[in-house]
Amino acid sequence: MRGPLLKVENLTKHYPLGTGILKKTVPVVRAVEDVSFSVEAGETLCIVGESGCGKSTVARLLMRLAEPTAGRVMIDGTDIAGLKKHAVRAWRRRMQMVFQDPYSSLNPRLTAGQIITEPVENFERLSRKQRKALAAELLRKVGMSPEMMDRLPSELSGGQRQRLGIARALALQPSLIIADEAVSALDVSVQAQILNLLLDLQQQIGIAYIFISHDLSVVQHIGHRVAVMYLGRIVELAPCDALFDKPVHPYTEALIAAAPVPDPTRVRLEVPMEGEVPSPVNPPSGCAFHPRCPLAVERCRIDVPPLVPMADGRVVACHVRAPATEIPAPFFLAAH
Ligand code: SF4
Repeated sequence: MRGPLLKVENLTKHYPLGTGILKKTVPVVRAVEDVSFSVEAGETLCIVGESGCGKSTVARLLMRLAEPTAGRVMIDGTDIAGLKKHAVRAWRRRMQMVFQDPYSSLNPRLTAGQIITEPVENFERLSRKQRKALAAELLRKVGMSPEMMDRLPSELSGGQRQRLGIARALALQPSLIIADEAVSALDVSVQAQILNLLLDLQQQIGIAYIFISHDLSVVQHIGHRVAVMYLGRIVELAPCDALFDKPVHPYTEALIAAAPVPDPTRVRLEVPMEGEVPSPVNPPSGCAFHPRCPLAVERCRIDVPPLVPMADGRVVACHVRAPATEIPAPFFLAAH
């Protein structure tokens, strides 16, 4: 049986603060702690959480833009965290990234056509004719006219620039695109166009997405499964409908309760969540959510709750809502 496209095991990233020459122990920012999940071909896994929860660091680790402190990242069974730089380049073809701010991620001196074909030319030489044909094909794919290939990013609208970013990501025919807040800088109507474009592309070419967002209405629109992160850890991972219909972790519940409700018939849950996200330099003991959690009990201050598989296929880390009756067997939060 074919395994998942992407499998992430126990991914951890600590950033030391300072060099620690005078101090024995160096304080560290615990940006990502023991994160495991998998992504199937053609699937969209969304990662949500408040600012600073570690979701963008996960994206950087997956793209090898940062080195993990521990853990493995496997594409089709190959651990890319352990590969040397030249070997990573080849694997990078499989995973591409679309950024939040299309303007700052596009070279302002290159034309749209050059921007799209540049990633391919890092791997192979293209003739002028091939470059033009490739640029035209990819512009069409993202709903833009090939006539725009000679324009500079400054001559395009925000939505067109994000389409261009997607075209560039598609140029290497990746199996997975990581979209980090890819629509949050756009107007709502343009957001909807870009989301529909991503959905269409997924249907046409079976591409998988890791979609990182703080906007739950966007996630609800595009996700198959959703991982909720709090202070560097996944606290709940569930099929999208199940998560929004019946959140189990108190933090998920509070996030959904705090989000704007696009459907007025939908009952909003009233879950209090007080205070700010604690510092990842000095996270609370036990369950990191306990200082803000209305359900916290004594044990929450002491033990980190494990992710416990539940009957409906989700996993939840909460001593009260998902008590572990026994040490759970290893699992990788797979879609199926
Ligand atoms: Fe709240 Fe305790 Fe569950 Fe953490 S483990 S979410 S503090 S009830």
